[in-house]
Amino acid sequence: MAQNVPITVAHGDGIGPEIMEATLHILKEAGARLEIETIEIGEQVYLRGDTAGIPASAWDSLRRTKVFLKAPITTPQGGGFKSLNVTVRKTLGLYANVRPCVSYHPFVDTKHPKMDVVIVRENEEDLYAGIEHRQTAQVYQCLKLISRPGCEKIVRYAFEYARRNNRKKVTCFTKDNIMKMTDGLFHKVFDEIAAEYADLENEHWIVDIGAAKLADTPEAFDVVVMPNLYGDILSDVAAQIAGSVGLAGSANIGTSGAMFEAIHGSAPRRAGQNLANPSGLLLGAVMMLVHINQPDVAERVHNAWLRAVEDGVHTYDIYAEGVSKQKVGTREFAAAVVERLGQSPQTLKAVKYNEGGGSETSTAGAGTGKVEKKELVGVDVFLNWEGGTAEALGETCDKLSGEGLKLSLIGNRGITVWPQGLPETFLSDHWRCRYLASQEGASISHSQITALLQRVADHGLDFIKTENLYNFDGKPGYSQ
Ligand code: NAD
Repeated sequence: MAQNVPITVAHGDGIGPEIMEATLHILKEAGARLEIETIEIGEQVYLRGDTAGIPASAWDSLRRTKVFLKAPITTPQGGGFKSLNVTVRKTLGLYANVRPCVSYHPFVDTKHPKMDVVIVRENEEDLYAGIEHRQTAQVYQCLKLISRPGCEKIVRYAFEYARRNNRKKVTCFTKDNIMKMTDGLFHKVFDEIAAEYADLENEHWIVDIGAAKLADTPEAFDVVVMPNLYGDILSDVAAQIAGSVGLAGSANIGTSGAMFEAIHGSAPRRAGQNLANPSGLLLGAVMMLVHINQPDVAERVHNAWLRAVEDGVHTYDIYAEGVSKQKVGTREFAAAVVERLGQSPQTLKAVKYNEGGGSETSTAGAGTGKVEKKELVGVDVFLNWEGGTAEALGETCDKLSGEGLKLSLIGNRGITVWPQGLPETFLSDHWRCRYLASQEGASISHSQITALLQRVADHGLDFIKTENLYNFDGKPGYSQ
């Protein structure tokens, strides 16, 4: 008999306790080999004054088990409460969010009967680092950070996921026609890693038209991998158009742990009435079973669940006259799934999970992209300035050239306005003055930059930040 696997369980708030009870009942009856540690998180913890909503003792359990099955929680109204999901995600390094979005036509209403898409969202980087600044009266910035190891981890995860789950194709969405360096890196890493998976098709779409296609013809996609922001938006779109927001589960996979949950919230108005649909959490738990290498149990549970849905045993949220056969509550639905353990669906496609689980993917190879030679070749000096025209600023800043540095251009919100700007361009109070080595091909030193900044300051100009310009192995590491 295989050993029980320790997992950490949180029953959550609102409908959380009911759907967790139903889920654990089904797992137990299906023969899941689990040793459950229960923790308290959420509303009561917040209200006791813990701004993170999770007590220190809960972390001990999470560090021990590294597997977290979490019911939805209620974040209390009012400020000062940190998002528990963000805290757990950051602490456990959960870099991949995996959300299968599947239609259950004709048993659950949907416009896309053939949809079966898995969104793999990068979960740690991109605009979500939360590094924001107000730089001038008019302009705010948010830094978009994309790392090569971050791209390698998520893209490899997507290909490994596709292979393990008998998928045929991995699609990448980016906006690299505009963000040539950040999204460009994501796309480049995708192409590199795709070449190692000759058994899988691969393709890249620009995210705007890709998103339109996904919303219109989701059956054209299989596994789709993308950076954080696009994934945040499109995983909700995909779940919604599958017709199954209440039925979708998700996995957050990391290097030192994994978290499984439903995608919906705690639906407080439905709480305590035996009304809620436990399917989202149950399908999250199925992903957990695969992750802890119990694919046999995952398959039993998932196929019995499909059979119950197909038999028309429906909770209120998916109940439809003429399609559904029986309107049931949370407990009765769980009982219906248990009754069908060992059975497979007849119209819907039965699932098959492989040995090897969804456990840690290798992140071997992460951290490549070594650089032999990094040269400092210039600096972008950002100014807060409201003194007039681009021509006037160009004249002033050009005079500040010297000691091996020469003003090469001035931009305003990404548009070059000096030399040869257009009078129609709207000018904000936020300017970027690019100084490059005056001798072509030469590199410069940090002290040349500090000397330049000293001249800028002495001239009474407000420099709000600088970005060094580097060449990496001879190639510019900055947008031109
Ligand atoms: P929600 O998902 O809780 O509910 C939206 C609507 O969907 C509800 O009116 C309910 O009728 C329906 N619904 C949701 N899940 C259902 C289920 N399993 N069965 C039947 N019907 C279901 O979203 P909300 O109302 O915006 O948020 C409520 C609370 O949940 C908030 O405090 C929010 O912060 C929290 N929340 C938590 C999580 C999480 O823990 N991961 C995620 C989202 C929202």
